[in-house]
Amino acid sequence: MPNLLIIGGGYAGLWAAMAAARRADENGSELHIRLLSKDAYLTHRPRLYERNPQDMRTPLGPVLEPIGVDLALGEVTAIEPAARTARATDAEGNSTEYIYDGLVLAAGSILRPPPLDIVDGRTWSVDDYQSAVALDQHLQARMAEPAEDAETVVIIGAGFTGIELAAEMRTRLAAHGGTARAEKARVILLDAAATVSEDLGPGPRPHILEALQAARVEVRLNTTVRRIKGDQVMLDDGGRITCQTVIVTTGAQANPLAAGFGLATDPAGRLFVDEFLRVKGLANIHAAGDIAHAMTDDSHASLMSCQHAMPMGKAAGYNAASDLLDLPPLPYQQTRYVTCLDLGPWGAVFSNGWERQVEMIKDEAKARKQFVMTQVIYPPTKDRAAILEAGALG
Ligand SMILES: Cc1cc2nc3c(=O)[nH]c(=O)nc-3n(C[C@H](O)[C@H](O)[C@H](O)COP(=O)(O)OP(=O)(O)OC[C@H]3O[C@@H](n4cnc5c(N)ncnc54)[C@H](O)[C@@H]3O)c2cc1C
Repeated sequence: MPNLLIIGGGYAGLWAAMAAARRADENGSELHIRLLSKDAYLTHRPRLYERNPQDMRTPLGPVLEPIGVDLALGEVTAIEPAARTARATDAEGNSTEYIYDGLVLAAGSILRPPPLDIVDGRTWSVDDYQSAVALDQHLQARMAEPAEDAETVVIIGAGFTGIELAAEMRTRLAAHGGTARAEKARVILLDAAATVSEDLGPGPRPHILEALQAARVEVRLNTTVRRIKGDQVMLDDGGRITCQTVIVTTGAQANPLAAGFGLATDPAGRLFVDEFLRVKGLANIHAAGDIAHAMTDDSHASLMSCQHAMPMGKAAGYNAASDLLDLPPLPYQQTRYVTCLDLGPWGAVFSNGWERQVEMIKDEAKARKQFVMTQVIYPPTKDRAAILEAGALG
């Protein structure tokens, strides 16, 4: 029986497993599928800026068991394409070699840290589960401090994540019981760029600025943080901010496993894949999600988003299974593109198309965002038919 190894239990990897299992099932073929990931959860990274980040993950077992996919835990440290092996180390430090016939690489991305000189201090992030939970515990501890202490939160990076986190921050502080302190807190959103949300374009921007103002976020543009020393955040214009919480939201870069192949990558470190999501220059390896640079249509590359990771994962799983079962593959294509940005108590902004034409704002857009965040990005569990159905392309 051929064996397919999927590395990564995020949106791309999990949906790849569902699609591969479906492909084998609909063809009546035998295929051994193993999903190998660092832990036994799908972490909902797009929700890690929200309150209660500890609730933002779904166990992988109830998705994988009903469709006969094995789950293995370990951090992959090396992949040898010539030998078709991947080596992983588990939580106890044991090293295991996994042999594959076909591989789907879906190991995602990591925070792209800014060049910062940190002395006697630290930064926080919402990039992964552990970081987001640690930040939440820190905020809770800060809110338990004496009420007269002013609280200042600095967020570095006014992109998608920084904006969502800044807009939500006062609500999060208040949720930790310090309503009066939360009211008095300063939330500062810094960026070296001259505008907020440079990547999101001009359409959503007026709404973003209005929402940040409503949330009393101080936006400081054309500002770079060079150094953090103790509780001092030092700016390139000579200014200083006294602050107990510095959160970095400066974007993402591909998982370092991508660099291990010695291939050309895009500026975010992503591997180039062809229309079937096969990694260019490697045999028997497909890639999907944040680690892959795919064309979604004739002129737009995929973005690091779950909106792209899920369909890419499905296409990679389908095609990897097809290759192993001598069935025809299907090209990946994704013409629809939308963005939905949470703007805290003000609401949200929803735009359609690559030009980001705003179609909904405030409560209407917020309802859409909540639908995506509580339904669309969650896989079905326990019900084999529903799980296989969720792996359908289309
Ligand atoms: C705070 C935040 C907000 C976001 N908001 C949005 C949003 O609103 N909309 C949107 O579309 N996208 C958003 N994103 C981006 C979105 O989360 C990612 O694009 C998506 O998670 C990518 O899915 P993925 O499966 O490629 O990678 P990931 O979700 O990163 O999953 C990677 C998987 O690989 C595993 N892994 C990593 N390294 C190894 C290794 N060495 N060995 C074994 N396993 C490994 C991880 O444990 C994980 O299971 C946001 C991201 C963040 C951090």
